[in-house]
Formats: sequence, structure tokens, C-alpha cells
Amino acid sequence: MSMPVINSDQNEVYEDPLDLMNEIDELKKEKDASILAHFYVDGDIQDIADFTGDSLKLARDATQVKTSTIVFSGVHFMGESAKIMSPEKRVLIPDMLAGCSLAESCPAEQLAAFQEQLRSEGRTFDTVAYINTSAAVKSLCDWIVTSGNAQEIIERVPQDREVLFVPDQHLGRYLMEVSGRKMILWPGSCMVHEVFSIQDLIRAKRNTPGSVVIAHPECPQNILEITDFIGGTEKMRRHVMSIKEPTTFLVATESAMIHAFEKSAPQHTFVPVPGIMTSTGETCACNRCPHMARNTLQKVRDCLKNESPEIEWKDYFQKARDVLDRSLLQ
Ligand code: SF4
Repeated sequence: MSMPVINSDQNEVYEDPLDLMNEIDELKKEKDASILAHFYVDGDIQDIADFTGDSLKLARDATQVKTSTIVFSGVHFMGESAKIMSPEKRVLIPDMLAGCSLAESCPAEQLAAFQEQLRSEGRTFDTVAYINTSAAVKSLCDWIVTSGNAQEIIERVPQDREVLFVPDQHLGRYLMEVSGRKMILWPGSCMVHEVFSIQDLIRAKRNTPGSVVIAHPECPQNILEITDFIGGTEKMRRHVMSIKEPTTFLVATESAMIHAFEKSAPQHTFVPVPGIMTSTGETCACNRCPHMARNTLQKVRDCLKNESPEIEWKDYFQKARDVLDRSLLQ
């Protein structure tokens, strides 16, 4: 067993990842736990997970887990969704502070006030929420969508009702384009997908003849306009798997996703599209979500060991569950 040393960069004790993985394996048995990991967390965590995927797949996987405890390595709203879908299970998350800028851009009180204002103007509408929202917001909505099923769900809203789409304005605008349906858009966005550098993407495309740009629909319009394939994480993964010829993909989504791409389609080369640091305007080499990056092997081990932090059931989870069930499971 290697000795722990201090990692001065992160101001935390460095521990050998292999030791941590062994310890996590033991704790999983001892605590009767399964690990669910989002494609945006570190590859090491994806490698020890029982289930990996995007938020839709993981919400569904949470209902299939046989153990009494789930460790959800992702961000807070995803842990809430797992608890909502499997209320009888104990749901632990490695870091309570792993939030989501997109979910936070739509606080439940502000949404409720806006819905009230629309009703007072005599407007009839369905509220359609992207899954990246808090459980409190989900409980105020009629439908929950992911980038994978959004178009299909929007088609279910009767034509005589308006659609209020929250919280991602870029995904909403993209959906208006593909569905031909006019919508009221909430002005939220994801801090990671918002800041891809269009200049660097154009330069990378020019310098890599034959390269293919793949992007998440949370990206702004200027990025999507020069993208060859637009899709959520699972759709992108299936797309790269379907191409046999070795290809260079320029990837405009959270850069940890490249780990899942490389595992699923090792014949290709994946290059992260650089982002721009909002604080300095400088380009950074890749786009990591600071919330997803809060998940570390140490924290996965610690939350298993301490059985904390835990997502506790709240009254409004039941309403959110009805909406999730209707939207994602039926
Ligand atoms: S990548 Fe964006 S949408 Fe995803 S968790 Fe991070 S902030 Fe939220």
C-alpha cells in the first residue's frame, strides 16, 4: 500500500487511485451499494461505476439498482432524480456542493412567479423543463425532457397551448428550430457549453482536414451552426460508435466525455474544443465542468464510508416524481 502524500495543488492528501479503487470495491460490498457515474465525471470514477451514462439513462438505471444504497457521482439535481425515482433507497452524493449553473439559473420561486404572471395575462401553456433543474422546479412543471427525447415530448403538448421551456435558452432555441414550434424561453444557460471559443473551433477545423465537429445542443447557436452532428451525450456516443472509419472528432461538450467516447469507439481521435475563461477572456485547453470536477475518488470513498452526504426525501419530490414518470418512463 503506498503512503499518502500532500497534493499541494488541491490542498488535499494525495492517495494512490488503485488503493482507492480497491477500498471503494470493499466498501461497496460492506454497505450494499452501487455507483452511478455521469459521463462528465473523471474517467477513474466511470471505470469503477456499476452504471455510466447521461442523466436520462442514469435516472432510469436508478430504478434497476438492486442494492439498498446508491452513490450518485454527478451533480446535485441528478442525485435528487435518483432519490425521486427510487425513494426506498439511500442516495449518497460525493459532494453536496456539486451544483449546476444551468439548474441554478432557474430558481423555483422565480419560475412560480413567472408562471403566475403568464396565467394572469390569460395565457394557457405547458411548462416543459430540461432535466437539468432542481426537484423543486420539476414539481412546478408539466413535462421533463432530456436532449434525447425533447422533440418527442414537445409534440405531445396540444397545439392550442403555448410551451414555456426552462431553463436552457440554447437548447430551447435549437428545439424551436427542429420542431417548428414557437416557445417562451427561460434565459438560462450552462457555464461550460456557453463558452466554447468559436475562433478556436474554426481554426481547429481548418487545421484538421476531414475532422468532424460534434456538439451538445446546450451550445450557443454560433457553435451549432458549424457543427456536423448535434446530440446529447448518449446520442453522440452512439454516433461515433456507428462510424467505423478512423476519424478525428472535435468535441464541443464537457471534456470528461472523451473518456466514454474513447472506450466506446477507440478507432477515433477525439479533440476537445477549447473554452474561453469568462474571468480573463483567455482560451483554456479544454472545458471541464467545475461542479462535475468536485467528484473525486476520495470523496466517493468517504461518502460510502461515512454514509453521508445523503439526499433526503422532500414533500415536493412526489409531484416531481409524477412528472418524471409520465415524461421519461411511459
Ligand atoms: S456541464 Fe453545465 S449543465 Fe452539466 S452539470 Fe456542469 S454546469 Fe450543469
